[in-house]
Amino acid sequence: GRPLARLSSTSPPINWKGTSTSGGPSLNLIGGDWTPGRGVTEWLDVHDPSTQALLTRVPQTPRADMLRLVDGAQAAFEAWSETSVLRRQDVLLKLQALIKDHTDDIARSIVLEQGKTFADAKGDVLRGLQVVIAAAGIPSLLMGDKLEVAKDMDTETRRVPLGVGAAICPFNFPAMIPLWSIAMAIATGNTLIVKPSERDPGATLIIAELAERAGLPKGVLSVLHGSVPAVNFLCEEPRIKAISFVGSSHAGKYIYDKAGANGKRVQANLGAKNHCIIMPDANRNHTLNSIVGAAFGAAGQRCMALSVLVTVGDTEEWLPDLIERAQKLKVGNGFDEEVDIGPLISPAAKQRVEGVIASAEKEGGKILLDGRGVKVPGYPDGNFVGPTSIQADVNMTCYKEEIFGPVLVIVKADTLDDAIKLINRNEYGNGAAIFTRSGAVARKFEKEINVGQIGINVPIPVPLPMFSWSGNKGSVLGQTSLYGPLGIEFWTQHKTTTALWRSEDALESKAATVMPT
Ligand code: NAD
Repeated sequence: GRPLARLSSTSPPINWKGTSTSGGPSLNLIGGDWTPGRGVTEWLDVHDPSTQALLTRVPQTPRADMLRLVDGAQAAFEAWSETSVLRRQDVLLKLQALIKDHTDDIARSIVLEQGKTFADAKGDVLRGLQVVIAAAGIPSLLMGDKLEVAKDMDTETRRVPLGVGAAICPFNFPAMIPLWSIAMAIATGNTLIVKPSERDPGATLIIAELAERAGLPKGVLSVLHGSVPAVNFLCEEPRIKAISFVGSSHAGKYIYDKAGANGKRVQANLGAKNHCIIMPDANRNHTLNSIVGAAFGAAGQRCMALSVLVTVGDTEEWLPDLIERAQKLKVGNGFDEEVDIGPLISPAAKQRVEGVIASAEKEGGKILLDGRGVKVPGYPDGNFVGPTSIQADVNMTCYKEEIFGPVLVIVKADTLDDAIKLINRNEYGNGAAIFTRSGAVARKFEKEINVGQIGINVPIPVPLPMFSWSGNKGSVLGQTSLYGPLGIEFWTQHKTTTALWRSEDALESKAATVMPT
């Protein structure tokens, strides 16, 4: 009960089929039925990260229900894969309209369960919605190639769906990441099982209900709750053909190996440590505002958060100005319109982040701004950590580990070459940015930096869906990608047909036993 009283004034209580925000269970969607499952014996609690109030419980779904869920997805695949591409497009168009209409509802669920601010939660929905809109172009996106390879012979390719797929999702973008897989998988004619993060399942459940209203047939989209047992099941079940994972490197490597060993197509999008270089000629105001937003927004819990700042030359002198701007950010409950930074996802996350800050102190780092112990009036139990900045070197734990909190690690490089080498030595490769007014410097950076997503005077360069998500190096395992043209590749396999149409009188009279040359 308590958390509902804390919702913003814009909010009626969230009341959707699958999700309850007052202690009732979150439901699975099994072949079109909303049900926790039969005989659930274990429940995983979901807490409001600002108050610790119990919001809902997620079933650790029993195996029999998981099997039933795959039965539904498999049966739906037979019909959905034969459904015309124009009909699939129509469902996507209806779904995008419904998501637009209900953006605030989804965003409210995100603020409540995940903690980010309401404005930022709407961005979470929007960046997923954009992929649904792009996927509505599926008739063109799915077109194959045809070539006349000889005067009487043609070869053509077509892309066909894989079957039942699964998306295993992280807590940090509860709408965007499930929507990426939902849009791409169903547009291409697959059926999909979404396993939302057990820490914030609400957004997925609202989206699944909207998909139902958009006319998506039963079983095309299923929702499976649970933690490691559900993941193990998805990696082992033979009828599941593909797994798209987004989350930590630890879980991702495990899933990549396990699902790969069972013959599945797997993409695993993993951890990150995104760097940003400031060059002395950069526009100071734009640069510092961009860095503060990208480092501390969403409490640093973005896969494209800026977590390392590399000062080149005398830009170190800009740090007091940076700290001053970071200090102005307000920490608090995401429903409060004045708040810039919400809580971390769990008390354990808060403890871990504070532990990394403490390790920096021990290892000789200089804490320029310390967000430990931040007090938020009215929310004494929230998982809050304030913006933190640490001058460090690359041997310290705070540089080496992904922190996933509002902590900006600052390292120094004498030259652009040194800064590029430093970034290229880092194991991760999601993104990196540079702030400069020089085209030549930007061009050199773009050419020599070894990460997947490059920002030039842009701090969080997540490509729009006409391009593909393109993390690289240690931030990804497997090929292809989440959305865009590479997302279409992931969710389809190619068939090529070669056809000979030769006039009867020109056909050979004798069998040929050699390869044609
Ligand atoms: P997580 O790995 O803890 O959880 C992700 C999913 O994996 C969840 O559904 C969870 O149930 C499951 N899982 C967790 N531990 C598991 C285990 N030991 N075995 C099997 N399954 C397990 O990740 P998270 O904390 O929810 O998300 C934050 C992480 O996600 C960060 O590391 C962040 O960098 C990463 N991330 C990466 C991208 C990207 O595109 N590369 C995008 C967003 C988030």
